[in-house]
This record gives sequence, structure tokens and C-alpha cells, in this order.
Amino acid sequence: MNAPGRPRRWTPTPLIGGAAAVHAGALASWLAAPATWPWAAGGVIASHLALTAAGLWPRSALLGHNWTRLPESANASIAITIDDGPDPDVTPRVLDLLDTHRARATFFCIGERARAHPEVVEAIVARGHAVENHSERHRHYFSLMGPRALRSEINAAQTTLGEIAGAKPLFFRAPAGLRNPFLEPVLCGLGLHLASWTRRGFDTRTGDASLVARRLLDGLASRDILLVHDGHAATDAHGAPVILAALDTVLRAASDRGLATVTLREAIVG
Ligand SMILES: [Zn+2]
Repeated sequence: MNAPGRPRRWTPTPLIGGAAAVHAGALASWLAAPATWPWAAGGVIASHLALTAAGLWPRSALLGHNWTRLPESANASIAITIDDGPDPDVTPRVLDLLDTHRARATFFCIGERARAHPEVVEAIVARGHAVENHSERHRHYFSLMGPRALRSEINAAQTTLGEIAGAKPLFFRAPAGLRNPFLEPVLCGLGLHLASWTRRGFDTRTGDASLVARRLLDGLASRDILLVHDGHAATDAHGAPVILAALDTVLRAASDRGLATVTLREAIVG
């Protein structure tokens, strides 16, 4: 793997290369025999459907490299990743919980939230955790953006988070995990690695912390990457963000099974 944070050369995946070949072949056949256009158009449409489907599947590697688990060197460790913050109410409570368990986590922060609450981002770093890039504005149409808009959205968060956290992010996670074929070349240019997850708790929608914990713990194994949220957190019947009780259960179970917690950047830098 390339040095962390350094731009790297983009090489298309077989799916992207195949789609490009279908486009070129469709154009050639249409030029040579215009009557074949329905076949050519059908091929182009099919390749677009395949690319779109790959982008709607957060854990797929069909559009480029994607961290769904930690590398083998991270044996006996798991990564807790926490999205959509910083949140001035929830994040400090999550930090206290992590301290109680002597656990480390990776916070995928939204740039504009970080600018609104820089002291929370500083606290994340000061307490030994990592801050990574979850885009500047977390737009719901992120996966529909073209290459220039993607680059400006991701680069803005690199600048924001780099300035506040004191170190530029090395990882990127797409809003809702949705992406398109333009994303990987942009990430390569910025020296970022795409990270998704092994399992998620759906804790922005589920107000039952024990159900969220069960989803995260079902099949828990070494090198898993778990996803919870300190921003957009669902609350339980008592109004408490479900991440607090769910994460407490998960960290207890991980410790019982002899699994340590590492940040994604610890797993890459070693
Ligand atoms: Zn998100």
C-alpha cells in the first residue's frame, strides 16, 4: 500500500474498465453499422445500471479499494468508527465512555459541523482518537456529484479538519456509504482511502440500544470495523442517544473476547 496521505495513481477496477470498453465498443459498432444502435444503446444502459448498483452497495470494492475490515496486521483488534459528528452534546459523552473502557475510536466528522464546534474536534484528538473525513456538508445527493464537485466537497473537509485536528485525514467515508465511479480517482488524488464497515448498528433509526448492540456484536471477530453515530443519533425511550448504551455493551463484549480497539490510521501506519 502507498504511503498514507500521499496521492497515488488511479487504476480502474475491472467493472469500470469493462464499462469503458462497452462504451467504446458501442460507439464503434454504431459507426460501422448504424442499424445495430439498439444493441449498442442496450450495452451502454446495462453498464450504467451495473455501475449504479455497485455505488449503492456501500461495502463493494467494484468501484475501487474499500476498507471493509482491518488489515491482517491488526490481528486481535477491532475499529470503532463514529460518523456524522461532532455533536456538542453527544460527542463529549461518547469520549467519556471511551475513556472508561480505555478504547480508541475513529471519528468521521462532517467539515461544517467541525467548524461550528472546533473545541469538540480538539477534544477528540486530545483524548487519543482519530479524526477522518466524512465530507464538508454531508449532502444527500453526494453520490450524484461529478468529479469536480466531489473533489471540492472532500477537499474542503480535508482543509477544515486538517486545520482543527492538526493532521489531515487519511480516510474518507461517503455520506450514507453511497458513491459513484468518479469518487475513487478523486480519493487517489487526495491520498485518501475509502473506508466502509464490517457491520453497522443502524443507530440513526433504531431507538433500541440493545438491538443496535446485537447487530454490531453478531459474529464479532478480530479486524471488524463497526459503525455507530454521534451525529444524527437516534434516542431511546428516555431521550438518551442510543450510541451510549450500545457502545458500552459493545466495548464490554470486545474486552471479554480479548479484542483491543485501534483507530483506522493506527492500523495503516502501524
Ligand atoms: Zn454520515
